[in-house]
Amino acid sequence: METRIDRIKKQLHAASFKLTPQREATVRVLLEHEEDHLSAEDVFLLVKDKAPEIGLATVYRTLELLTELKIVDKINFGDGVARYDLRQEGAAHFHHHLVCIECGAVDEIQEDLLEDVEQVVEKRWNFLVKDHRLTFHGICWRCNDRGSVEE
Ligand SMILES: [Zn+2]
Ligand SMILES: [Zn+2]
Repeated sequence: METRIDRIKKQLHAASFKLTPQREATVRVLLEHEEDHLSAEDVFLLVKDKAPEIGLATVYRTLELLTELKIVDKINFGDGVARYDLRQEGAAHFHHHLVCIECGAVDEIQEDLLEDVEQVVEKRWNFLVKDHRLTFHGICWRCNDRGSVEE
């Protein structure tokens, strides 16, 4: 945790930003909830526990800054809510998501799996792929299990 905060601090410094206490509280919440896909309001409520004086606008600006610096990715699963997701350290590409249409669970795939597709895109459209967003919508293993038990 501390080493990751340290590295994020360096990333901010490299872009001439400081890790203020408010920014640090926001980063800590994101690290503590790495598996989750929190909205700005979710982050705000969690940060408020650590830094009661913080305002939603500050949290929002911090999230936008972290997005700009590619420390977090902003995603939308089609429900109109922007969510913030920490990027895996050293990951060249954003991870993929599996969104369950039954229970709403969001699972992650960290492997890229798309090398072949990227090569086709680069060749056929002469397009240099820098990143991608991939969200699968379907039924998760938990809902699948539940279904087979009821049968
Ligand atoms: Zn994610
Ligand atoms: Zn499910």
